Amino acid sequence: MQLTIRNLTKTYPNGVKALQDVSLDIPTGMYGLLGPNGAGKSTLMRTLATLQEADSGAATLGDMDVLKDKDAVRRVLGYLPQEFGVYARISALEMLDHLAVLKGIPAARRKEVVDALLQRVNLWEHRKKSVSSYSGGMRQRFGIAQALLGDPKLIIVDEPTAGLDPGERNRFYNLLSEIGENVIVILSTHIVEDVTELCSNMAIINNGRVLYDGAPDAALKQLEGKVWEKAIAKSEIDDYQQRFQVISSKLVAGKPIIHILSDTDPSDGFRRAEADLEDVFFAKISAGEALEG
Ligand code: ADP
Repeated sequence: MQLTIRNLTKTYPNGVKALQDVSLDIPTGMYGLLGPNGAGKSTLMRTLATLQEADSGAATLGDMDVLKDKDAVRRVLGYLPQEFGVYARISALEMLDHLAVLKGIPAARRKEVVDALLQRVNLWEHRKKSVSSYSGGMRQRFGIAQALLGDPKLIIVDEPTAGLDPGERNRFYNLLSEIGENVIVILSTHIVEDVTELCSNMAIINNGRVLYDGAPDAALKQLEGKVWEKAIAKSEIDDYQQRFQVISSKLVAGKPIIHILSDTDPSDGFRRAEADLEDVFFAKISAGEALEG
């Protein structure tokens, strides 16, 4: 099964162009949708999850029309939204059982399905606690359990790792990476590491436009030999930004290290740096912004 998105466009009533002619081919496996806050990720996710209308364009999942056959899509969809509701003070077990009823799982199989999911996301020991008492990481794992109800073919997770500490984030990565190879998992995120760790394909979006789509490796190849780095003083940043195409600057032990893009050796004390996905991200975003003016 493949998810095909063609020329999807959405402008909100306030004039914000959240999606501008978005076309993507999303195969099975883990797909990263990477973009800064406000890029249009949630708008795209909500549209694919049949919760919101696009102005124009098309999306098909196998032979289903995602924008029209909403009920059919909902039967094969698992969705973990960015803000996953307010939790009643009932136990995780009761909550998941209730969600299983809503999902239409037959009564005879419900207990088996719910128990297996709670074990799968490692919440079995905590099944009698209320989800409102859970830590951020536990809530996200519960969110994955509910998204997996009913063996979905398309799983959409919107910014799932924001707010998790590194240990929780790792546990969450392990869980996501265990989800079957035969489903499409779209992971929307502004955290480059999420994509590096998990995704075999990805798109970078900003201002509602697709700036890159393909394998992370291929994106890295495009930058090979073109990324240079240098430690500079904080007061020099503006100067370097005027003279070079600075794609990122991060503090290492309190000192800025800048990365620039240059086809040739810029000398001036720069050293060649190995391009990482963070460089790809910032290079695509800054190139996109230069084009938009
Ligand atoms: P992301 O998920 O990448 O942060 P969103 O899809 O939430 O991006 O938002 C894309 C743009 O659309 C942002 O500029 C945001 O402010 C705007 N936006 C999102 N939802 C609405 C809405 N309901 N009404 C008006 N503007 C919105």
